[in-house]
Amino acid sequence: MNGSLSNNTSQNETYKKRIIKIMRFLILILFTLLVSLSSKNTERNPHKRGDDNISEADFQHTTKKNIELVGYWLTPPNLIICDNVTTVSRVKQAIGFWEKMGYNFGEIKKFNQIDCLKIRKYQTNTIVIQLPTSQQGMTNKLALTNTHRNTVTNQHISSEIFIFPFACKKPLVLEHELGHALGWRHAKGKYHIMNRSVNMIGSSTVGVRYSSYKRNVAEQFGYFFP
Ligand SMILES: [Zn+2]
Repeated sequence: MNGSLSNNTSQNETYKKRIIKIMRFLILILFTLLVSLSSKNTERNPHKRGDDNISEADFQHTTKKNIELVGYWLTPPNLIICDNVTTVSRVKQAIGFWEKMGYNFGEIKKFNQIDCLKIRKYQTNTIVIQLPTSQQGMTNKLALTNTHRNTVTNQHISSEIFIFPFACKKPLVLEHELGHALGWRHAKGKYHIMNRSVNMIGSSTVGVRYSSYKRNVAEQFGYFFP
């Protein structure tokens, strides 16, 4: 009896030891899995999610392949504000968004009504920011951008941003229109600066940075920036 009892106890102890070993092994596997998962997450989301801070994972499907250029500026364009539609400082802020990515712009000037009438259309090497007229058919639109281009080379001659003053005050709308004025079409990515929907617009610049601009201009139009 004693012998069998002690036998049972030692058998129980070996079982316990085995179970502890297995448990340790399982915990180690679990820990390794957790560590590898969390490191993957930090790789995918370098930025924490917030109201105006966007996770990289959301716009991973936006690549240079789905953002096209309609044309390009050979020299940095000047900007003229007409119709008192916005302020020089708001335009400075908006071009700053693109300057951070490597783009260059010329002067920003606010024109009076008479000077604006003179330059209204086809002001060479200039982006004119102005009020929409009935001509633009702006129902349900915040803004609209036209570009006038050389039909052979696709170089921009001038560009017109038609925008309402309240839209200028909205975050990223003027920045988005400047993107069109630079030559960019819409991007599909969520929270991308060139997303066509104002509710989906964000500060992602995947595929529209100056390096992409230069590459696209070379690939699409055969012009190589010096
Ligand atoms: Zn747009």
